[in-house]
Amino acid sequence: MPPIAVSTVMAMLALVLNVSRLNAQGNPDQPALSPRQQQIVVISALTAKGDLQRLPAALARGLEAGLTVSEIREVLVHLYAYCGFPRSIRGLQTFMATLDERKKRGVTDVAGNEATATTSGESKYERGKKTLETLTGQPQTGPARGYAAFSPEIDVFLKEHLFADIFGRDVLSYADRELTTIAVLSSLGGVEPMMQSHMGIGLRVGLTAPQLMQALDLIEVNVGKAEATAGRAVLAVVRGGVTAAISPTAPAKPDTLDRGERLPATHFTGAAWVRMLVPADSAFNVPVGQVTFEPGARTYWHTHAGGQVLLATDGVGYYQEKGKPVQVLRKGDAVKCPPNVPHWHGASPQSGFTQVAITPNTATGRTTWLQQVTEAEYNNLKE
Ligand code: MN
Repeated sequence: MPPIAVSTVMAMLALVLNVSRLNAQGNPDQPALSPRQQQIVVISALTAKGDLQRLPAALARGLEAGLTVSEIREVLVHLYAYCGFPRSIRGLQTFMATLDERKKRGVTDVAGNEATATTSGESKYERGKKTLETLTGQPQTGPARGYAAFSPEIDVFLKEHLFADIFGRDVLSYADRELTTIAVLSSLGGVEPMMQSHMGIGLRVGLTAPQLMQALDLIEVNVGKAEATAGRAVLAVVRGGVTAAISPTAPAKPDTLDRGERLPATHFTGAAWVRMLVPADSAFNVPVGQVTFEPGARTYWHTHAGGQVLLATDGVGYYQEKGKPVQVLRKGDAVKCPPNVPHWHGASPQSGFTQVAITPNTATGRTTWLQQVTEAEYNNLKE
């Protein structure tokens, strides 16, 4: 492992899963939840409601649908942040009994991966804040407002515990975590503002509106009509483009030039935006985003676990791999960036730059962010 914590590792936010535009239409190539995702919804809903009669069958269907033991365990652990230890622990106990029973019948279930340990030197609060920025696509700056001002401690708990400790774990993708969260929130009911935030994030991280509709159909069957109807009303608002920031400190600011979402200062120097052209999905594993850099703007150093292809579409830009000369990119140029090679890209000082970033193989891992490209580095480039 490089000295970068998993929790500070963010998908090339920009370019990938994390900061895709609020895409209410979703990806028509991936209209349905996979069987595995459907069972994440059902397991989450039944656990949240404490429906221990029907939970064992849902857990078994989850395993049959390809969820690993560690993935289901992670769903049940994630749930506790939303429906409390009592329900979460009952879910875990039910899962243990289900696994035992299957083992006795000679069924071998796939254990799956353990969560990668975090080695970041950053404070939990900072890590949580960055995860939240990744998920919402909005910088978490400015004074606290609303409940965060009234109760600063819950703002700390939320950032440190929910977004650093729980969302920072890598067993489940952000899309899976959002599906879990949306399922539990819609099952609980009466938490529409938070559900709206998470539906917005869900669409950002690769879920589609038809998939969320399907999740609510599963809520109707497994929990009730009233809960599903309330969820559909929230989804309609989100699809209409009315989104609520999860943080009371960060109102959404749509870009008037249609450059997409402003990219956060935590990983970009200067002003840069991403507009997702092809949102991430589990079938293709290749999100495609158009990134616009103002003159002088650039990424931090970073790596992509699955590599990246950059197509220059406008202006004059730079691309540099660690220890190599900089490459100047002009309209029509293409660059292939190999997996796990530290690099940065961005605009030249005099000209803005627009690129299309194609980030394949995202199932192999996310983008790892490294240090800033310093002024000295940027001002002393050698071709
Ligand atoms: Mn890159």
